[in-house]
Amino acid sequence: MNLKSERRGIHVDQSELLCKKGCGYYGNPAWQGFCSKCWREEYHKARQKQIQEDWELAERLQREEEEAYASSQSTQGAQSLTFSKFEEKKTNEKTRKVTTVKKFFTASSRAGAKKALAGKLKAEIQEAKAPSPSIHRQASIETDRVSKEFIEFIRTYQKPGQDIYKQCKLFLDTMSHKRDLSIEEQSECAQDFYQNIADRLQTRWKVPPEKVEKAMDEVEKYIMTRQYKYVFCPETTDDEKKDLAVQKRIRALHWVTPQMLCVPVSEEIPEVSDMVVKAITDIIEMDSKRVPRDKLACITKCSKHIFNAIKITKNEPASADDFLPTLIYIVLKGNPPRLQSNIQYITRFCNPSRLMTGEDGYYFTNLCCAVAFIEKLDAQSLNLSQEDFDRFMTGQTSPKKQESDSFSPDVCLGVKQMCKSLDLLSQLNERQERIVSEAKKLEKDLIDWTDGITKEVEDIVEKYPLEIKPKSQALAAIDSENVENDKLPPPLQPQVYAG
Ligand SMILES: [Zn+2]
Repeated sequence: MNLKSERRGIHVDQSELLCKKGCGYYGNPAWQGFCSKCWREEYHKARQKQIQEDWELAERLQREEEEAYASSQSTQGAQSLTFSKFEEKKTNEKTRKVTTVKKFFTASSRAGAKKALAGKLKAEIQEAKAPSPSIHRQASIETDRVSKEFIEFIRTYQKPGQDIYKQCKLFLDTMSHKRDLSIEEQSECAQDFYQNIADRLQTRWKVPPEKVEKAMDEVEKYIMTRQYKYVFCPETTDDEKKDLAVQKRIRALHWVTPQMLCVPVSEEIPEVSDMVVKAITDIIEMDSKRVPRDKLACITKCSKHIFNAIKITKNEPASADDFLPTLIYIVLKGNPPRLQSNIQYITRFCNPSRLMTGEDGYYFTNLCCAVAFIEKLDAQSLNLSQEDFDRFMTGQTSPKKQESDSFSPDVCLGVKQMCKSLDLLSQLNERQERIVSEAKKLEKDLIDWTDGITKEVEDIVEKYPLEIKPKSQALAAIDSENVENDKLPPPLQPQVYAG
């Protein structure tokens, strides 16, 4: 599936959702872009080729060993190790071939053909009623309830119903002995089983198509409720590792806004925000279901809420181009638990006809596409510069927060408080900067003022210089200015005394 990144951000051509063989069914990244049917054909071909190659290799090895054995019987001891390896390989091949060739129907028909079905049904109902000692009490209660419902349902189908019931029991019995098979092989058994049941109902029992579909749903519910704990996220796969990787990736992308994804959903509208919350709830709920079809139903419900949210925002019906980015946004916002495991489980164990056509198939394909997109999300697809993208990814900064008033009601109180505090901090920061710049201005003003005053004083001093005039006859005038001059005795005259 080719995810184009254009100016608009995310766009996937609708034709890219279809099987790449052009059969018209929905494809899936898990099947390398094929639909379930074509993928199985490819898978079988590849497997047959592998088996053929392995046999050729085994034969070649055998020839070589025989030649070596014949030529050097004396060095037998040294060779025994490789020989035993070869033996081991041959045994493996044998087992593998047996499991491929041997279908459980042939094996099971021996065991179950002669049993009286009525008695079995009765025993089953009793089993369903009896309390289970299992520690997974809740799960076993559900299993029992599902079994009971299945038996009641299948009774309405009379003879074909009995046949289907028998096949289901045989399938479960066979599968209980095949737990050590790889998950792909177990999936193949389940797919073969669905195919066989559908064929039986249609051709052998001539059941009308709508009744076949209904029966198939019940069959899936019955067998997968029982198989769930063995085949969901099994330890033999790296499903869990992938789950953690996706979860981590989604967490790292927490800063992505609807604007960056060009999501035509305005959460300020209460109705829309309500739809978004419901869509997130649905996609999270998927993990709690055990039947593939119930999981699919969660995806479909989620998708319908998305379509509604877009429709209310845009005031016109949503287009497929609007849908995928919004689904990506919902997945990013919800971070649904065990997303990869759920997708893998549905892909492996859902009745394939559900995935290949219809709205369930369409929405499921879109979800797979959304996850593939999230894994590849880059600066270009979010209309960001590489620097901004890197800074957001490393958490150095985050895009401008929305106004705190426009929070949707689902945002938790702590986050709201945090955003308000961040807002306040940035306001304080602005104020601080303003104060600093004002202070600098004041300092400059003060300096300017001092300079101004100094210059003014200098100018005045220059204009009116201080002049000190010389003293003139000041002392001589003292006596003349004495008013009562005449009342003083005359000045003493020098006199000569004879002596
Ligand atoms: Zn196809």
